[in-house]
Amino acid sequence: MTLPSPAELADRLEPLLDALAEHFGPQRWWTDTDPFEVIAGALLVQNTAWTGAAKAIENLRAAGALSIDGILALDELSCQELVRPSGSFRQKTAKLQAFAGHVRDAHDGDLARMLRTPMAPLRHELLGIWGVGPETADAILLYAARQPSFVVDTYTQRALERLGVIPNGVPRAALRALLLEALPPDAWQLAETHGLFVRLGKAHCRSTPDCAPCPLLMGCEYGSGGTIAARRG
Ligand code: SF4
Repeated sequence: MTLPSPAELADRLEPLLDALAEHFGPQRWWTDTDPFEVIAGALLVQNTAWTGAAKAIENLRAAGALSIDGILALDELSCQELVRPSGSFRQKTAKLQAFAGHVRDAHDGDLARMLRTPMAPLRHELLGIWGVGPETADAILLYAARQPSFVVDTYTQRALERLGVIPNGVPRAALRALLLEALPPDAWQLAETHGLFVRLGKAHCRSTPDCAPCPLLMGCEYGSGGTIAARRG
């Protein structure tokens, strides 16, 4: 299977996204959330479930530390105690402190100004901050800066591969570039699309997929094959 062109991918995605939107409804992730809270969430959720990250965020909020200045004012041990529920708490503390320190040093502590930087240089800048990889950088661009990036995560790639939309093993950078060419450059729509793939991945398209109730079953190569095999079985 070859990689589809952006136009081919757009044609394939349109009915799939319509079906997901009809099934799951609007996602509207982080629409009214303070940008630093989004960034803290993107860092704290790395390699853990959202419930742990959410508890850590609530701890930071209760301590008055859910801001650049708040993180910078915390001593290391206090921050570690607050973010402990998110797991890897020493590393997560270091990541929060690295991010806050960068905003202080490079932008005089003005996060809003930093997030207004155009997307390509801002992504490059984010990737230069310790603890920020491509997935986290794109989550910050899309949900904190509301710039038209796309978060290519395991959920998205796995579903697109199983659906037969893309070949297996496309490098994530290439998949992100292709999706950004195929989809309208609208941050709110891109956020909805990402949110829908995550919902799909959590509800049905898990590592062991639950295809029978999946809204995409009829158009899915893997799911249809599994169903046919099960009927024969
Ligand atoms: S039918 Fe199965 S494999 Fe296909 S998208 Fe749905 S859950 Fe994933």
